[in-house]
Amino acid sequence: MELLNNDQLKELLALRKWLHKNPELSGKEKNTSRKLETFIRQTSPDKIITGLGGFGVAAVYVFDEKGPTILVRADMDALPIDEVNTFAHKSRNDGVSHKCGHDGHSTILAALGIALKNNPLPKGRIILLFQPEEETGKGAAKVIADEAFKMIKPDYAIALHNLPGFEKAAIVLRDGPFAAASTGMIIKITGSSSHAAQPEQGNSPVKMLAHAMREIPEIPHKKSAKFKDFALATIIHSKLGEVAFGTNPGKAVLMATLRTYYNDDMVVLVKEAERLVKSLAEEYKMKIEISYTEDFPATINDKKLNDVIRHMCDELGEEIVEIDEAFRWSEDFGHFTSNFRGTLFGIGSGKDSPGLHNNDYDFPDEILPHAVQVFYHTIRKILNT
Ligand SMILES: [Zn+2]
Ligand SMILES: [Zn+2]
Repeated sequence: MELLNNDQLKELLALRKWLHKNPELSGKEKNTSRKLETFIRQTSPDKIITGLGGFGVAAVYVFDEKGPTILVRADMDALPIDEVNTFAHKSRNDGVSHKCGHDGHSTILAALGIALKNNPLPKGRIILLFQPEEETGKGAAKVIADEAFKMIKPDYAIALHNLPGFEKAAIVLRDGPFAAASTGMIIKITGSSSHAAQPEQGNSPVKMLAHAMREIPEIPHKKSAKFKDFALATIIHSKLGEVAFGTNPGKAVLMATLRTYYNDDMVVLVKEAERLVKSLAEEYKMKIEISYTEDFPATINDKKLNDVIRHMCDELGEEIVEIDEAFRWSEDFGHFTSNFRGTLFGIGSGKDSPGLHNNDYDFPDEILPHAVQVFYHTIRKILNT
């Protein structure tokens, strides 16, 4: 069975390079979305839904016999990173580039659309979802909450992410947690300012800030906190007062990223962090305000779906790498695995590939046919055809 012919492959590689050259930030994927919509139209889906959770596009294919709905998701946003590569398809948008390979993920999904047109399935319903805003953790949740998503509610959801550090095209699998839950914690601290010559007349947040900066990263190691697995708290930003040498500051902001492999461990970590900050605020007589941003649930993979992928990789002769530990980074596909039976697998982008989000990274096109093959045959197997 030929999934893609040579001309189609060439067209797909041109699409990947166009996407790389024209990157757009999370939530601003207007041209990316239009380009993908135009491309996917030529695969004659039964329906195309646009404007899904922002610039999301879903192509819906309904096959002859009734069967389950399988959603395959690709992300499409780029990052605020200046590209240092000098090749012909380098980013032409200053300060923005595809450094996570979402240009490649979207192209794989477009390729899957062509594979479905070349080799229609006997049954079931397939949704190819081009999802916006992955990098900020907002896109998946917005798509799922979109009214139009109700009609495409899937029985299964699958996705992939390319992974530098693994052999090219190796399929990376793990049952259960695959990518961590994470959330950005913002702590606003208010005391009172005074003249720098009379600090005793004010109440500077400096001591509380220093104390919190030291203690927050220690929470995962506290004996009293009951974590069943990995937990991590990283201070990522802080600000104390303004640059004014005559002023003893009255305000501060502290930000930390909290990470765990399980969603219930995140509940514990958030509770412990809030408890600590509240008790410090009391100790130093500060007012505090706590808020959260960039919320990613854990991506928890379904074992049965993984078993189908394992089986298909064996049959297709694709290499499988089973990993012992989940990844510490987060993926907003966690919103899908929280709501539907789903799995996210990794596909190696080369042992010597620059890391994700590095300014010299580029998606390796050679892995595209492998990814399409694994997706297509896994879908067939899930549908039992
Ligand atoms: Zn990324
Ligand atoms: Zn990514």
